[in-house]
Amino acid sequence: MKFYRPLKRIEAITFDLDDTLYDNYDVIRRTDAETLKFMQGFHPALADMAPDTVRLMRTELLAQDAEIYHDVTQWRRQAVLLAMTRAGLSRREAEQGTAATMETFAQWRSKIFVPQENHDALAALAERWPLVAITNGNADPHACGLAQYFQFTLRAGEHGRAKPYADMYKKASLKLDLPLEQILHVGDDLTTDVAGSVRCGMQSCWINLREGDLMHIRDARLLPHIEISQLASLTALL
Ligand SMILES: [Mg+2]
Repeated sequence: MKFYRPLKRIEAITFDLDDTLYDNYDVIRRTDAETLKFMQGFHPALADMAPDTVRLMRTELLAQDAEIYHDVTQWRRQAVLLAMTRAGLSRREAEQGTAATMETFAQWRSKIFVPQENHDALAALAERWPLVAITNGNADPHACGLAQYFQFTLRAGEHGRAKPYADMYKKASLKLDLPLEQILHVGDDLTTDVAGSVRCGMQSCWINLREGDLMHIRDARLLPHIEISQLASLTALL
Protein backbone atom coordinates (compact mmCIF):
# COMPACT_ATOMS: atom_id res chain seq x y z
CA MET A 1 0.00 0.00 0.00
CA LYS A 2 1.33 3.44 -0.95
CA PHE A 3 0.28 6.59 0.87
CA TYR A 4 0.07 9.93 -0.94
CA ARG A 5 -2.13 11.92 1.44
CA PRO A 6 -2.75 11.47 5.16
CA LEU A 7 -5.70 9.18 5.77
CA LYS A 8 -8.39 10.44 8.07
CA ARG A 9 -11.00 8.48 9.91
CA ILE A 10 -12.92 6.08 7.67
CA GLU A 11 -16.57 5.37 8.49
CA ALA A 12 -17.67 3.77 5.23
CA ILE A 13 -16.22 2.53 1.93
CA THR A 14 -17.68 2.93 -1.55
CA PHE A 15 -16.54 0.74 -4.44
CA ASP A 16 -16.48 1.00 -8.18
CA LEU A 17 -17.55 -2.35 -9.68
CA ASP A 18 -16.12 -2.99 -13.16
CA ASP A 19 -12.44 -3.96 -13.05
CA THR A 20 -12.14 -2.89 -9.42
CA LEU A 21 -13.84 -6.02 -8.06
CA TYR A 22 -13.45 -8.34 -11.07
CA ASP A 23 -11.86 -8.42 -14.50
CA ASN A 24 -14.47 -6.88 -16.76
CA TYR A 25 -12.64 -7.22 -20.08
CA ASP A 26 -13.59 -10.80 -20.91
CA VAL A 27 -17.13 -10.28 -19.58
CA ILE A 28 -17.73 -7.48 -22.07
CA ARG A 29 -16.06 -9.30 -24.95
CA ARG A 30 -18.22 -12.39 -24.41
CA THR A 31 -21.36 -10.32 -23.79
CA ASP A 32 -20.86 -8.37 -27.03
CA ALA A 33 -20.28 -11.55 -29.05
CA GLU A 34 -23.33 -13.36 -27.63
CA THR A 35 -25.56 -10.31 -28.00
CA LEU A 36 -24.53 -9.91 -31.64
CA LYS A 37 -25.25 -13.59 -32.29
CA PHE A 38 -28.69 -13.17 -30.71
CA MET A 39 -29.53 -10.11 -32.81
CA GLN A 40 -28.39 -11.79 -36.02
CA GLY A 41 -30.65 -14.74 -35.27
CA PHE A 42 -33.64 -12.61 -34.29
CA HIS A 43 -34.70 -11.54 -37.79
CA PRO A 44 -33.50 -12.38 -41.33
CA ALA A 45 -32.88 -8.68 -41.99
CA LEU A 46 -30.31 -8.71 -39.16
CA ALA A 47 -28.50 -11.89 -40.22
CA ASP A 48 -25.51 -10.04 -41.69
CA MET A 49 -25.33 -7.32 -39.07
CA ALA A 50 -21.73 -6.17 -38.63
CA PRO A 51 -20.12 -6.52 -35.16
CA ASP A 52 -19.66 -2.75 -34.72
CA THR A 53 -23.23 -1.76 -35.70
CA VAL A 54 -24.47 -1.07 -32.17
CA ARG A 55 -21.27 0.80 -31.35
CA LEU A 56 -21.77 3.04 -34.41
CA MET A 57 -25.38 3.71 -33.40
CA ARG A 58 -24.18 4.63 -29.91
CA THR A 59 -21.73 7.14 -31.40
CA GLU A 60 -24.50 8.60 -33.52
CA LEU A 61 -26.84 8.93 -30.53
CA LEU A 62 -24.10 10.57 -28.46
CA ALA A 63 -23.61 13.17 -31.19
CA GLN A 64 -27.34 13.99 -30.96
CA ASP A 65 -27.48 14.02 -27.16
CA ALA A 66 -24.20 14.64 -25.34
CA GLU A 67 -25.75 13.65 -21.98
CA ILE A 68 -26.95 10.22 -23.08
CA TYR A 69 -23.80 8.49 -21.79
CA HIS A 70 -24.84 8.92 -18.16
CA ASP A 71 -27.25 5.99 -18.50
CA VAL A 72 -25.41 3.24 -20.37
CA THR A 73 -28.37 0.85 -20.35
CA GLN A 74 -30.74 3.39 -21.88
CA TRP A 75 -28.05 4.40 -24.36
CA ARG A 76 -27.59 0.79 -25.46
CA ARG A 77 -31.36 0.18 -25.68
CA GLN A 78 -31.79 3.14 -28.01
CA ALA A 79 -28.79 2.07 -30.09
CA VAL A 80 -30.19 -1.46 -30.54
CA LEU A 81 -33.60 -0.05 -31.47
CA LEU A 82 -32.00 2.25 -34.02
CA ALA A 83 -29.94 -0.61 -35.51
CA MET A 84 -33.05 -2.76 -35.89
CA THR A 85 -35.15 0.05 -37.35
CA ARG A 86 -32.42 0.92 -39.85
CA ALA A 87 -32.22 -2.73 -40.89
CA GLY A 88 -35.87 -2.47 -41.94
CA LEU A 89 -37.73 -4.06 -39.04
CA SER A 90 -41.20 -2.70 -38.29
CA ARG A 91 -41.58 -0.56 -35.18
CA ARG A 92 -43.22 -3.47 -33.38
CA GLU A 93 -40.56 -5.99 -34.44
CA ALA A 94 -37.79 -3.58 -33.50
CA GLU A 95 -39.29 -2.99 -30.05
CA GLN A 96 -39.73 -6.69 -29.37
CA GLY A 97 -36.25 -7.40 -30.71
CA THR A 98 -34.74 -4.66 -28.55
CA ALA A 99 -36.40 -5.94 -25.38
CA ALA A 100 -35.18 -9.48 -26.07
CA THR A 101 -31.68 -8.26 -26.97
CA MET A 102 -31.42 -6.27 -23.74
CA GLU A 103 -32.42 -9.37 -21.77
CA THR A 104 -29.73 -11.41 -23.50
CA PHE A 105 -27.22 -8.65 -22.85
CA ALA A 106 -28.11 -8.52 -19.14
CA GLN A 107 -27.79 -12.29 -18.78
CA TRP A 108 -24.28 -12.42 -20.24
CA ARG A 109 -23.28 -9.18 -18.53
CA SER A 110 -23.94 -10.84 -15.18
CA LYS A 111 -21.73 -13.88 -15.79
CA ILE A 112 -18.96 -12.32 -13.78
CA PHE A 113 -16.23 -14.22 -11.99
CA VAL A 114 -15.21 -12.62 -8.71
CA PRO A 115 -11.95 -14.10 -7.33
CA GLN A 116 -12.31 -15.78 -3.94
CA GLU A 117 -9.77 -13.41 -2.34
CA ASN A 118 -11.98 -10.47 -3.33
CA HIS A 119 -15.01 -12.15 -1.75
CA ASP A 120 -12.95 -12.70 1.41
CA ALA A 121 -11.74 -9.08 1.47
CA LEU A 122 -15.25 -7.67 0.94
CA ALA A 123 -16.68 -9.94 3.64
CA ALA A 124 -14.03 -8.81 6.14
CA LEU A 125 -14.47 -5.13 5.29
CA ALA A 126 -18.26 -5.39 5.46
CA GLU A 127 -18.02 -6.55 9.06
CA ARG A 128 -16.32 -3.34 10.03
CA TRP A 129 -17.77 -0.70 7.68
CA PRO A 130 -20.91 -0.11 5.63
CA LEU A 131 -19.96 -0.78 2.00
CA VAL A 132 -21.64 0.78 -1.03
CA ALA A 133 -21.31 0.11 -4.78
CA ILE A 134 -21.14 3.09 -7.14
CA THR A 135 -21.05 2.25 -10.83
CA ASN A 136 -21.19 4.02 -14.17
CA GLY A 137 -21.93 0.67 -15.79
CA ASN A 138 -24.74 -1.84 -15.91
CA ALA A 139 -23.40 -4.71 -13.81
CA ASP A 140 -25.91 -5.89 -11.22
CA PRO A 141 -24.39 -6.88 -7.84
CA HIS A 142 -27.38 -9.19 -7.21
CA ALA A 143 -26.87 -11.07 -10.45
CA CYS A 144 -23.12 -11.42 -9.98
CA GLY A 145 -23.16 -12.56 -6.36
CA LEU A 146 -21.85 -9.40 -4.70
CA ALA A 147 -25.03 -7.88 -3.28
CA GLN A 148 -24.61 -9.32 0.22
CA TYR A 149 -21.63 -7.05 0.92
CA PHE A 150 -23.29 -3.77 -0.02
CA GLN A 151 -25.80 -1.65 1.86
CA PHE A 152 -26.97 -0.26 -1.47
CA THR A 153 -25.89 0.29 -5.07
CA LEU A 154 -25.86 3.59 -6.95
CA ARG A 155 -26.00 3.47 -10.71
CA ALA A 156 -25.33 6.30 -13.17
CA GLY A 157 -28.47 7.43 -14.96
CA GLU A 158 -30.83 6.14 -12.32
CA HIS A 159 -29.04 7.89 -9.44
CA GLY A 160 -27.41 10.87 -11.09
CA ARG A 161 -24.81 11.75 -13.66
CA ALA A 162 -21.90 9.40 -14.27
CA LYS A 163 -18.69 9.67 -12.22
CA PRO A 164 -16.55 11.85 -12.08
CA TYR A 165 -19.60 14.07 -11.47
CA ALA A 166 -20.26 14.20 -7.73
CA ASP A 167 -23.96 13.23 -7.91
CA MET A 168 -23.58 9.63 -6.76
CA TYR A 169 -20.78 10.38 -4.30
CA LYS A 170 -22.97 12.98 -2.62
CA LYS A 171 -25.96 10.65 -2.69
CA ALA A 172 -23.91 7.96 -0.95
CA SER A 173 -22.88 10.41 1.75
CA LEU A 174 -26.51 11.46 2.28
CA LYS A 175 -27.83 7.91 2.39
CA LEU A 176 -25.06 6.81 4.75
CA ASP A 177 -25.58 9.95 6.82
CA LEU A 178 -21.82 10.51 6.89
CA PRO A 179 -19.71 13.47 5.77
CA LEU A 180 -17.90 12.91 2.45
CA GLU A 181 -14.50 13.16 4.14
CA GLN A 182 -15.22 10.09 6.26
CA ILE A 183 -15.89 7.92 3.22
CA LEU A 184 -13.16 6.12 1.27
CA HIS A 185 -13.88 5.47 -2.41
CA VAL A 186 -12.03 2.60 -4.09
CA GLY A 187 -11.71 2.40 -7.87
CA ASP A 188 -9.45 1.61 -10.81
CA ASP A 189 -10.09 4.72 -12.89
CA LEU A 190 -7.97 7.79 -12.22
CA THR A 191 -10.55 10.20 -13.61
CA THR A 192 -13.97 8.85 -12.70
CA ASP A 193 -12.95 7.25 -9.40
CA VAL A 194 -9.88 9.07 -8.07
CA ALA A 195 -10.29 12.62 -9.39
CA GLY A 196 -14.07 12.46 -8.96
CA SER A 197 -13.97 11.38 -5.33
CA VAL A 198 -11.03 13.61 -4.28
CA ARG A 199 -12.63 16.66 -5.90
CA CYS A 200 -15.84 16.24 -3.92
CA GLY A 201 -13.99 15.86 -0.62
CA MET A 202 -13.85 12.10 -0.15
CA GLN A 203 -10.83 10.00 0.61
CA SER A 204 -9.69 8.01 -2.35
CA CYS A 205 -8.01 4.67 -2.98
CA TRP A 206 -6.67 3.85 -6.43
CA ILE A 207 -6.51 0.18 -7.29
CA ASN A 208 -3.60 -0.04 -9.70
CA LEU A 209 -4.29 -3.17 -11.74
CA ARG A 210 -1.78 -2.75 -14.58
CA GLU A 211 1.35 -1.88 -12.65
CA GLY A 212 0.96 1.75 -13.68
CA ASP A 213 3.17 4.47 -12.26
CA LEU A 214 1.06 7.32 -10.93
CA MET A 215 3.88 9.79 -11.57
CA HIS A 216 3.95 8.93 -15.27
CA ILE A 217 0.30 8.52 -16.19
CA ARG A 218 -1.43 11.26 -18.15
CA ASP A 219 -4.77 10.64 -16.42
CA ALA A 220 -3.31 11.24 -12.97
CA ARG A 221 -4.73 14.70 -12.32
CA LEU A 222 -5.25 14.35 -8.61
CA LEU A 223 -3.37 12.09 -6.23
CA PRO A 224 -5.41 9.51 -4.38
CA HIS A 225 -4.90 9.12 -0.65
CA ILE A 226 -3.68 5.57 -1.06
CA GLU A 227 -2.76 3.14 -3.82
CA ILE A 228 -3.13 -0.63 -3.72
CA SER A 229 -2.57 -3.32 -6.34
CA GLN A 230 -5.02 -5.85 -4.97
CA LEU A 231 -8.27 -5.52 -3.11
CA ALA A 232 -7.10 -7.71 -0.23
CA SER A 233 -4.58 -5.01 0.78
CA LEU A 234 -7.49 -2.94 2.10
CA THR A 235 -7.90 -5.35 4.99
CA ALA A 236 -4.68 -3.80 6.37
CA LEU A 237 -6.89 -0.81 7.27
CA LEU A 238 -9.02 -2.98 9.56
MG1 LIG B 1 -13.87 0.54 -13.06
